[in-house]
Amino acid sequence: MRTKIVAGNWKMNKTFQEAEELLAEISEGLESCELQNTDVILCVPAPYLELAADFCDGSKFMAGAQNIHDQDFGAYTGEVSAPMLKSLNVDFTIIGHSERRKYFGESGDFLKKKVEASLKHGIGPIFCCGEVLDERNQGIHFEVVKKQLEETVFLFPADEFRQIIIAYEPVWAIGTGVNATPAQAQEMHAAIRRWIEGKFGEEVSESTIILYGGSCNAGNAAELFRQPDVDGGLIGGASLKASEFLTIVKAAEK
Ligand code: PEP
Repeated sequence: MRTKIVAGNWKMNKTFQEAEELLAEISEGLESCELQNTDVILCVPAPYLELAADFCDGSKFMAGAQNIHDQDFGAYTGEVSAPMLKSLNVDFTIIGHSERRKYFGESGDFLKKKVEASLKHGIGPIFCCGEVLDERNQGIHFEVVKKQLEETVFLFPADEFRQIIIAYEPVWAIGTGVNATPAQAQEMHAAIRRWIEGKFGEEVSESTIILYGGSCNAGNAAELFRQPDVDGGLIGGASLKASEFLTIVKAAEK
């Protein structure tokens, strides 16, 4: 059985004090959760990573970044490298979120370098893929997602690929309040798992964790997570309120 993962993506939200409060509330809430098969990751803004990593000690979550640079160090003003994240005990990073692709022009080959950097330093990549609404309306969503996988994560050998978490996030569902239906999510997750099997074999495909992201909330998480190929969620807006996020975590554990 695959472990379920619920990962929060706080994006560019919360002041330091608010972040401290939210981390404390989530930490406290997780104390009373009997989590047998669910891991929790909080991808907080870069300035709060040290704080989040400190909270992780003795808490039931792990710290994740929202982005990473492909170079280890150097003249890249404003960027954060894998060795820096590792030195803060950050275990995961999101790579290729649609907002990074859209607003920062991150392409498949650049994202490959980021995945390389994170794997080199033992930081688990959470690789995002997903089609925009127009692509779904045109019926080319499977091709689009397959291409995103082929131009980045499918270029790694199996022993490296198996360290990557995939997050299917249809762009039309992100932050819109319109989630993919459980059937739509399952259909794409099953397709992704088939492509992984074709590329790396059944053992790798059966052990790959594929998260769903896009307007997943306390009300719809249980049904989405019940789908056989949905192994949890990458949660944006609903990760900013402790009670809602904790409900989603509990939904994964069921
Ligand atoms: C995200 O940005 O990764 C996301 C899934 O956002 P939301 O849950 O707010 O749709």
